[in-house]
Amino acid sequence: MKKILIATSNKGKVEEFKALLAGCDLELVTPTDIGLSLEVEEDGTTYKENAGKKAVAYSLASGLISIADDSGLEVDVLDGAPGLYSARFSPKKGATDADRRQYLLDKCAGKPKPWKALFHATVAIGYPDGRLVFTEGKCYGEIQTAEKGDGGFGYDPIFAIPELSRTMAELSMSEKNEISHRALAVKKAIPYLIG
Ligand code: IMP
Repeated sequence: MKKILIATSNKGKVEEFKALLAGCDLELVTPTDIGLSLEVEEDGTTYKENAGKKAVAYSLASGLISIADDSGLEVDVLDGAPGLYSARFSPKKGATDADRRQYLLDKCAGKPKPWKALFHATVAIGYPDGRLVFTEGKCYGEIQTAEKGDGGFGYDPIFAIPELSRTMAELSMSEKNEISHRALAVKKAIPYLIG
């Protein structure tokens, strides 16, 4: 069975990658499973650059095909912020996901509603010889002030999907994996993982 390294230490992402790739006849391993601890500086200016950097670093270090993503939330009334900086969007040292959600709501406060937003994911598949393949996915929604749901991670509790009248955090894993940015990008990447 082909071994694929899920190149992230974000637990929420790991769970989603595993669910999305279940049934693909692949052996999925995490950096922890193989005793690999890497810090990859996300200093690129695009999602593609950061995703590629992570995939290359993990593939070269492990000798395995790896799958990485770089993702972010883009809010229209914030001119696309936090975008690439979604994971670091708070001035607070040691900020949590909850701190980042509150910071985002503080930034949106007073701006005209609806606060339209999208999640973007660029997935990179890295091969041990340095080759890279990229895929992308987007998911459209609106930021809402009241947190709802306890599923998912990151900004999910304040990201509403208008067609479903629920936040991303109120969806089951399988429902999120029908529509999310990461799901769309990973589904496009599957042929390159199994091929
Ligand atoms: P990065 O890809 O490691 O730079 O992290 C992206 C950041 O965007 C995460 O830490 C979350 O804050 C946010 N994000 C990306 N995807 C999702 C998602 O599916 N739900 C909620 N937040 C997300």
